[in-house]
Amino acid sequence: MSHTQYEAVIGLEVHAQLATKTKMFCGCSTSYGAAPNTQICPVCLGLPGALPVPNRQAIALAVRAGLSLGCTLRKSSRFARKNYYYPDLSKGYQISQFDLPLNEKGSLEITTSAGTKRVNLTRIHVEEDAAKNLHGVGAGTDTLVDFNRAGTPLIEIVGEPELRSAEEAEAYLKALRDILMFAGVNDGNLEEGSFRCDANVSIRPVGQEKFGTRCELKNINSFKFVRKAIDYEIARQEAIVSSGGTIFQETRTWSSTQEKTLSLRSKEEAQDYRYFADPDLPPLVVDDAWLAEIRTTVPEPIAARRERWQRELGLTAYDAQVLSAHPRIAEYFEAATSSLETQRAGKLAKDNLAKAGAGKRVANFMQAEALRVVTTNGLEASFPCSAERLAGLLALVEDETINGKIAKDVFADMIATGKAPADIVSSKGLAQVKDTSAIEGTVREVIAKHPKELASFKAGKTNLKGFFVGRVMGALKGANPALVNEVLDRVLAEP
Ligand SMILES: [Zn+2]
Repeated sequence: MSHTQYEAVIGLEVHAQLATKTKMFCGCSTSYGAAPNTQICPVCLGLPGALPVPNRQAIALAVRAGLSLGCTLRKSSRFARKNYYYPDLSKGYQISQFDLPLNEKGSLEITTSAGTKRVNLTRIHVEEDAAKNLHGVGAGTDTLVDFNRAGTPLIEIVGEPELRSAEEAEAYLKALRDILMFAGVNDGNLEEGSFRCDANVSIRPVGQEKFGTRCELKNINSFKFVRKAIDYEIARQEAIVSSGGTIFQETRTWSSTQEKTLSLRSKEEAQDYRYFADPDLPPLVVDDAWLAEIRTTVPEPIAARRERWQRELGLTAYDAQVLSAHPRIAEYFEAATSSLETQRAGKLAKDNLAKAGAGKRVANFMQAEALRVVTTNGLEASFPCSAERLAGLLALVEDETINGKIAKDVFADMIATGKAPADIVSSKGLAQVKDTSAIEGTVREVIAKHPKELASFKAGKTNLKGFFVGRVMGALKGANPALVNEVLDRVLAEP
């Protein structure tokens, strides 16, 4: 008897919060972490008679998301009511889009251990978030509702069921998050729930075209859990089907404590929501002039930027990946590189400046030292020193005012004190001694103090040169090692 081989069919629905200051249909703040129910009004509480007004910036960002993912824009789309009853949805419906979404089609490229693959999107539509149920707060087992999140602008990115493994699903989410974050559409903050995913998972015998019955895994909020939850779900379904059982369509959730998916409820179908066009909202029209304006705000795509850094700045693929972990890190890297190039201009006659490109030099220093002290939070990243100052420090290394080792100490000082690199170098006397006559004086003193070592050196123990270098460097803190070697060679060669 041969075992049937199964393949997984996975489609992801991602809810990404649009990076606006205010909500989708009212002026309440979207900032995260405020005391419960302090950012609310009649509109987002869903009080009868309150009328929604769409947030222009949210729509612009949703269009930008579509442009960044190669979607086709629908110039006149429509808001629809998705009707269901739940404590976190006090209106009794969510404003979403149904038959006429803002963006259709589109695609993105993912990279896994098997290579690259293009995955198609079905649509990207605009909707509002629900409030948040807070379980087990207050007196013991109470569930309370925080409406601060209610009405937060979201896009839902619906992908085609073209993913075949948990690894592909994870790669898809990372690629999507990078694209949206670098387009300034979403802050990419999984912990705060501004990028979350539902996964539709089914299995079918290899070679069969028809999809199996799918289960929807709800609200997975970390890349690690996505992978674990999907792997678990594939194995669970295979075990059921292989033993002759039947998969029931249902909504499941990932329990990170039990490391398994658990059944929540039987899955609703679209007809259960009784969608209809929202009578409070006119068609959503994006005319050509507005589209042209939005188009000018779309930044260089992250994939293109990584490629350009490798081509023009000599970075490795790994460097490019690390320095594009966050949009502000990428901006900082580019600002420091261009500042170093400016500071170099005019000094390029010196041979040693041509040794490493400015981009590579900045990339190396950032990876070795600077990234350790950066904190990122949403679309913001805070650097304890400006890009221009970092470039100033590296310029001091390039013109040999200080060496690379001292540069690390100066950088630590810059972080601790906020002072400029040149001020630290001069106030601490860290500049390398480049005065040949001063070095020669010390070289002669050192040699005069060690006649025995000199005699041995002359007798052929040439490795004693290191001994002299060490003594001279010790006496002349911050001397340029190349100069010390040069002078020492000359003096030791004297008869
Ligand atoms: Zn409000």
